[in-house]
Amino acid sequence: MQACVIGAGVIGCAVALELRRRGFAVTVIDKNGDAGHGSTSSSCGIVRRFYSQPGMIAMAHEGWHIWAEWRSFVGDIEGELIEFPRPGMVFIPPRLDESVLATAGEMQRLGIKAHVLSHAEAKARFPFLDLSSFYPATPVDDPRFFEPSERQLEGVVWEEDAGYVVFPALAAQNLRQAATRAGVEFRFHQQVTAIEAGATQRFELRLASGAALTTDVVVNVAGPHSAIVNRMAGVTLPLETRPLRREVHAQANPLFERGVSLPIVGDLDGGIYFRPESRGRDIIVGSTDPQCDVLEFVDDPDAIDRSITQLYRQRQSLRLMKRMPSVTMGRPRGVADLYDVTVQDWYPIVDRTDLPGYYVCIGTSGSSFKTAPVLGMLTAQIVEACESGRDTDASPLPFELPRIGCTVNTQFLSRHRGKLQTTATVIG
Ligand SMILES: Cc1cc2nc3c(=O)[nH]c(=O)nc-3n(C[C@H](O)[C@H](O)[C@H](O)COP(=O)(O)OP(=O)(O)OC[C@H]3O[C@@H](n4cnc5c(N)ncnc54)[C@H](O)[C@@H]3O)c2cc1C
Repeated sequence: MQACVIGAGVIGCAVALELRRRGFAVTVIDKNGDAGHGSTSSSCGIVRRFYSQPGMIAMAHEGWHIWAEWRSFVGDIEGELIEFPRPGMVFIPPRLDESVLATAGEMQRLGIKAHVLSHAEAKARFPFLDLSSFYPATPVDDPRFFEPSERQLEGVVWEEDAGYVVFPALAAQNLRQAATRAGVEFRFHQQVTAIEAGATQRFELRLASGAALTTDVVVNVAGPHSAIVNRMAGVTLPLETRPLRREVHAQANPLFERGVSLPIVGDLDGGIYFRPESRGRDIIVGSTDPQCDVLEFVDDPDAIDRSITQLYRQRQSLRLMKRMPSVTMGRPRGVADLYDVTVQDWYPIVDRTDLPGYYVCIGTSGSSFKTAPVLGMLTAQIVEACESGRDTDASPLPFELPRIGCTVNTQFLSRHRGKLQTTATVIG
């Protein structure tokens, strides 16, 4: 059966590889010139397992195993393979409340090396971090921003072997090579402009070049263009996805010269996340979307300003300097790109749709790089099951995660999931 995947990002390439492994004839179409040149190229590639939904903790843990065994997952690759350094990740919640302790407990139950550290333990282990509580985060022009805090954090969660993938676009290119070797066809510099009913197969995809392509199955993995592609197919989902503009900024890492290892930090208290970059010379810092910051949703993903701005640079870098006082403000460096956000709860939508043959793996909300290979498997299983006559709405698939030995109910990723208890931020 012919399947067409729209989008050659890290997730689109993973979906294509898994569909091929299940016997589909697969074509991937992308308007860019190579795999991973969409939002994947700006990803921070952080692989952590601290999530509010237990199913996502498990999927992220399965993903962690795949990144750790990447060579065996993708097979022989010509050229470079991704690197996956694992300096660990510190989560700094405003309080060690019940939900944080429940998340840490679920992580431990799944065998993840997660530890709740008291304030004193965290201070001894991470002396370069200021462990005051700055919650709630304020805008930098608020007079309270520079006031010293009298409050101390209760403690942190330490995920001992969390890591990040260096150069996330390379992960997509490694997957592209594995998929090509397995028989997937990639067509680059081709933009899908219309999705219509086909005469001989279910769909006819019209391309900007004037060419057309017929296929039985279409999978929308178009990242921040997901809503546009759904509109082309005439598909309206119960959950909305929207592109959200983001910036990630770089500063020099003061620990580098001292030979001290910097962990990844998810600072929910301060409103940022950061990790080492350039083999530890730099720190890159993004936002965890504190309530005081206005989210910059955009209507046209092709019309965004890709230059970094003073607003984000100050906001993220000054918050970094509060948490890590040895950082100093350097020259402006960073990237601006888009998340594809599921507005309701910031969890991906991986599902069939009401249009037979049309599937989605979208709304990845700035945190699905880590699960890309796992989402690829889940999407391919859903496509295979539906195309074999199963109604996955009425009888959802149990999703097995062989590396961690557990089965997940993936209803929490369906388009009909209803309200989920999540942070409704990039933390998930
Ligand atoms: C700044 C930033 C930081 C992030 N940090 C992390 C992180 O630390 N950890 C983590 O787990 N996740 C992170 N993410 C999220 C993660 O990177 C994304 O969820 C993931 O890369 C999305 O992959 P994708 O394949 O779905 O989309 P993309 O990589 O955006 O690929 C979609 C592709 O579809 C193509 N396309 C779109 N429309 C069409 C069309 N009509 N015709 C043809 N082609 C089309 C585009 O050209 C593009 O190449 C981050 C994301 C961003 C933007």
